[in-house]
Amino acid sequence: MPLNFSTNKPLSVHSMNTGKFCRICLFTKRLVDVLKMDEANIEKWFERVKEYFQVSMSRHDNKSTYLCRYCMQIIEDRIDEQNTVMKNQRIIGFLDEMSQKNVVKSIQQEDGQ
Ligand SMILES: [Zn+2]
Repeated sequence: MPLNFSTNKPLSVHSMNTGKFCRICLFTKRLVDVLKMDEANIEKWFERVKEYFQVSMSRHDNKSTYLCRYCMQIIEDRIDEQNTVMKNQRIIGFLDEMSQKNVVKSIQQEDGQ
């Protein structure tokens, strides 16, 4: 289910001071600090946030490095969708190949007659 950004509560002064809000949607709950992940996951999530939301996260500025579970789920759902689309394209490619072979076969059969 897509996240409805407009339902999020506005940032409180407290959360602004602590920087504990989602870098993408400003949500203040269910947060994960990307910088507390292992090195591979830090890079992975920085890249994903850049790719899917055009937001550049960095460990070298003072901007929030938190993501909420909802935004992480949105990204993971998009990746799943893309994987499904790619699989489907392989199926379509295979079907196309098969139908072309059948066309060639039927032409050859016609020539043989
Ligand atoms: Zn979020």
